[in-house]
Formats: sequence, C-alpha cells, structure tokens
Amino acid sequence: MIHYTCDRCKRQINTADQTRYIVQIDIQSAADHPAAEIEDDVDQLTELHQLLESMTDTEIEDDDVESSHHGRYDLCPECHRQFLKNPLGRDAVLALGFSNN
Ligand SMILES: [Zn+2]
Repeated sequence: MIHYTCDRCKRQINTADQTRYIVQIDIQSAADHPAAEIEDDVDQLTELHQLLESMTDTEIEDDDVESSHHGRYDLCPECHRQFLKNPLGRDAVLALGFSNN
C-alpha cells in the first residue's frame, strides 16, 4: 500500500479512511501578445507562426526566470478544507498584520 504525505501539514494520509486531495497549480505570466492586433488572415498565419516560435522561446526562458510554475501537491482532508477557504493565503497575511499591532 502506498503511503501519502500531506504537503501542507506533513501528516500521513491514510487513504483507507481518508480522501487524498490533489492540488495542481499552474502559474503563467500573462504577457500581452501582439497577436491581439491581427487584422487580416494572411497576417494571422504569419503571426501564428511567430507566436508559436516565441512561445517555444518563452518556455526556455521561463525555466530561468520562473515566470511560470507548475506544482502538484497532496492534501489531507483538513488541509484541503483550509485551502478551499483561503487558496491565496490571504487570512494568514492579515492575521500576521493584526498580531503585530
Ligand atoms: Zn494536511
């Protein structure tokens, strides 16, 4: 039997009586592409080729600057509930601000 560990609280997930939740995070930088200014079909094909080429280039650069990120995390039921309530961790930041006062 495979044992899973929650990536948030590091507790072991007993899949016999607990549900294991998988969170997949896919972050990409939202750069505006000049393709939005396409006006006729011929340019569109040319732009598409350029776009495909630039996308390939961007992927290589992204590995260096980490403007994109893909992560896959196992969560126990409790952490899954917490994550749903607050996927961006905003409450934690607020709580920290309050405790400083
Ligand atoms: Zn957990």
